[in-house]
Amino acid sequence: MDIIELQGERGRFAAVVARDRDLGETCRFPADAAFVFIGLKPNSAFLGDAAQRDPGGFLVTDATMQTSLPGVFAAGDVRRGSTKQLGSAVGDGIAALLMTLRYLEAHHHKAVALADA
Ligand SMILES: Cc1cc2nc3c(=O)[nH]c(=O)nc-3n(C[C@H](O)[C@H](O)[C@H](O)COP(=O)(O)OP(=O)(O)OC[C@H]3O[C@@H](n4cnc5c(N)ncnc54)[C@H](O)[C@@H]3O)c2cc1C
Repeated sequence: MDIIELQGERGRFAAVVARDRDLGETCRFPADAAFVFIGLKPNSAFLGDAAQRDPGGFLVTDATMQTSLPGVFAAGDVRRGSTKQLGSAVGDGIAALLMTLRYLEAHHHKAVALADA
């Protein structure tokens, strides 16, 4: 189904009009409320082929949250397999940060004070 119109009556939401993709028929569904399901398209195109993405554009990560591009980590909704929940996105972020620190230490990138740089 493709949503083609949200209708109102007397200033209130009243119905959803949708078209069946296969049959081409248009149906009207009276309703008191609608939940707009948005925000699931990952903004990962800027990486191009530099890091592996699944067909939906979600970044493929290993157990350490690292993408196929060494030193690049992904967390939250943009990661393939993420549960798309706030709590898991926060947890992903913490794990990715710790793994990033471990990566930097393993590759001898030491933090330096700006005055010494
Ligand atoms: C309508 C809706 C309802 C939801 N309801 C719930 C709920 O009830 N409970 C729940 O647990 N979860 C809910 N979620 C899911 C939850 O919001 C997400 O799982 C969570 O926000 C993911 O966090 P994130 O940091 O991965 O991504 P986001 O919160 O999407 O943050 C990504 C940020 O990166 C920014 N950004 C994107 N591209 C770039 C770029 N190129 N450069 C710089 N910045 C960039 C974006 O502007 C955004 O600020 C809901 C989501 C939606 C859309």
